[in-house]
Amino acid sequence: MSEQTAEEGTSQGPRVVVVGAGMAGVQTAVALREQGFRGRVTVIGAEPHQPYDRPPLSKAVLLGKAEGSAFDVDFESLGVELRLGCEVHGLRPDARELDTEAGSVPYDVLVLATGAEPITLPGTEGVPGVHLLRTLDDAERLRPVLTRQHDIVVVGAGWIGAEFATAAREAGCAVTVVEAADHPLAGALPTEVSAPMAAWYADSGAELRTRARVERVEPG
Ligand SMILES: Cc1cc2nc3c(=O)[nH]c(=O)nc-3n(C[C@H](O)[C@H](O)[C@H](O)COP(=O)(O)OP(=O)(O)OC[C@H]3O[C@@H](n4cnc5c(N)ncnc54)[C@H](O)[C@@H]3O)c2cc1C
Repeated sequence: MSEQTAEEGTSQGPRVVVVGAGMAGVQTAVALREQGFRGRVTVIGAEPHQPYDRPPLSKAVLLGKAEGSAFDVDFESLGVELRLGCEVHGLRPDARELDTEAGSVPYDVLVLATGAEPITLPGTEGVPGVHLLRTLDDAERLRPVLTRQHDIVVVGAGWIGAEFATAAREAGCAVTVVEAADHPLAGALPTEVSAPMAAWYADSGAELRTRARVERVEPG
């Protein structure tokens, strides 16, 4: 997180509303103040937690070595209003208003920093033992799974899959990673770079199965 200014927000200037309290949304609010913006700034986030960074979720937070990863930002002294646990359901551009469950929110300038959602697999919703890893709540739900040393299948040999597999091995779980492509990190890096990374899995004691696209998931 870049350096904050101690400048107080004032009601001079337009009202900026940022939807999404992740890295992009928070950094936008901080940067506005750093650059001297004095209008009202409101950050709205669907999650109830103090805004946090996601990378530790597949590392220290997952392994219980850190409780959280909240951004080191003093929103109050920056004069940035936080509305957490507040999902935005709709946008009415003509009226310059957002709709939330707590009522409508007017804006002059709107920043959409709503991030991305993981791809879910058909038939997995609500199935016991199936987890996503994206939020602090997900990481907290997964901690006891590691502690109980379950046999784990990880779908996806990207960065997060690799980190989760390593953490689960460290916790003593048996781990199989299934990946649709023929090598890890296929979406992120060219084959020459990423193919050797298959050895990471063997080194950590995880089994990597490539060209293994998941068709369906059954309980157990
Ligand atoms: C487990 C994990 C590990 C990672 N590790 C790394 C790493 O080591 N290195 C790295 O560079 N990147 C890593 N990443 C990726 C990095 O965290 C993302 O690139 C980053 O979080 C993107 O930030 P963002 O603000 O764009 O989106 P997000 O973090 O997705 O934030 C968007 C926010 O908007 C909120 N939102 C969405 N819709 C609404 C709505 N309608 N109303 C209100 N709020 C809404 C969401 O709840 C969310 O909190 C990791 C990601 C995960 C999940």
